[in-house]
Amino acid sequence: MKFGGTSIQGRRGVERVASILSSGGPGTVAVVSAMAGTTDALLEGAEAAVAGRPGLDQAAAAVREEHLRVAQDLLGEGELDSFSAYLGAVISRYRAYGALLAGASSDARRSLEAASSAGELLAAAILAASLRGMGVSATAVDAARLLVTEGHPWAAEPLVQESGELARGELLPLLRDGTLPVVTGFRAGTAAGQVTTLGRGGSDHTATVLGAVLAAAEIWIWTEVDGILTADPRLVAESRLLPEVSYAEAIELSYFGAKVLHGRAVPPAASAAIPIRIKNTMHPDRAGTVIEARRPGPGRVRAVTQMEQACLLTMTASPGAGLNRLAGEVFSAFADARITTLMVTQSSAEQVICVAIPAVELTAAREALLPARFLLAVDIKDQVSVVVVVGEAMRGTAGIAGAMFGALGEHGINVVAISQGSSELAVAAVVKRQDVGDAVRALHRQFGLAGPG
Ligand code: ADP
Ligand code: ASP
Ligand code: MG
Repeated sequence: MKFGGTSIQGRRGVERVASILSSGGPGTVAVVSAMAGTTDALLEGAEAAVAGRPGLDQAAAAVREEHLRVAQDLLGEGELDSFSAYLGAVISRYRAYGALLAGASSDARRSLEAASSAGELLAAAILAASLRGMGVSATAVDAARLLVTEGHPWAAEPLVQESGELARGELLPLLRDGTLPVVTGFRAGTAAGQVTTLGRGGSDHTATVLGAVLAAAEIWIWTEVDGILTADPRLVAESRLLPEVSYAEAIELSYFGAKVLHGRAVPPAASAAIPIRIKNTMHPDRAGTVIEARRPGPGRVRAVTQMEQACLLTMTASPGAGLNRLAGEVFSAFADARITTLMVTQSSAEQVICVAIPAVELTAAREALLPARFLLAVDIKDQVSVVVVVGEAMRGTAGIAGAMFGALGEHGINVVAISQGSSELAVAAVVKRQDVGDAVRALHRQFGLAGPG
């Protein structure tokens, strides 16, 4: 069971999570994110230190005070004393990272990960202590010791074999003793022992990797909404719950920005055929969404999602290079740098390839393109969003792209580019960022997603 930052926020949040866990039955492993806002605060402080600006001490003090306040409200004397000592140590280490980071080069990205994932250590410690206060045997476990990763900062990939051995070695004996492990989400480590992270929102991924290597019966993601909805409820008030979603649909939705699940979280569960359930922490009695293998139903749109902060890169091939050579170069550079390509279109007449990527990956994408030999020019539009309709078995369903164009056109929304995803589970369109809310609402209505059933 994984609990997100909003679920575990404040005294009430920790109590609610502890009460769900205490009735969870034997054999439960908990995974927790940092309390909401903590990762942002820690990251801002550490980034300020890298840039030589003040801000580190302020972040350290704010995070310290917030956690101390919750602990004081929640814990008995003995637990409070040991938590306070631990809090002091974690915050000192955070400030030490900050001092080392001051003026550091781009290599500092690893240390930023270690610094900004301290919130998970604190959330796991507070939750475990409060469970013990309720008479539940529980212990906090740092996933930096369980998940061995390789790859890029902020997008480390767990090595299944090594992580599996470590996780089983540490967690199964605890479960056998009737102790509930409370594992830090987000955090992982390299084989050499450096702390890494699974990227922003990556605690979902922690949960599915652990679920897979422990051969869990189910993986439950507890969050602040009822489950996977037909659209982001922040944009579409009349979005509806989807009681069942296939692994393939969930992969598409999370890949294209549906924040309810991290983009890399589904595959570990899908390969092990373990169902993922999304549940609302505030309403544990509600069924939520179950994600599992499903036979494709009739091809139709099931949800609309958006990557709000996106960029569109239009790349022109050098004279005589040809589009294939440019494409080969660009996509292998993007693959090495783990760039998320949201959509791709090309024009052979103009010898251009257009790629939409998440805005947060723009700097990495620019760096990846620096050595490109077949690239003549790049034009970057950085104020765009990608809106995507998703549904299993849309393959062969004529007219989805047409209906999409039509609905957007009717609302006066200009479509910058459109493409069918390679999986044929998704059709994506690029729109101006200012139009993204209207575009998602127009598509939600066009495909009848608010309707009954
Ligand atoms: P947590 O802190 O539990 O990890 P997140 O904020 O990461 O929670 O994810 C939950 C949020 O995902 C919701 O508040 C909602 O705004 C957003 N979201 C985006 N798209 C969807 C969708 N299709 N269904 C449900 N929630 C969505
Ligand atoms: N606390 C981390 C973040 O804010 C990880 C997570 O929430 O899943 O990105
Ligand atoms: Mg999340």
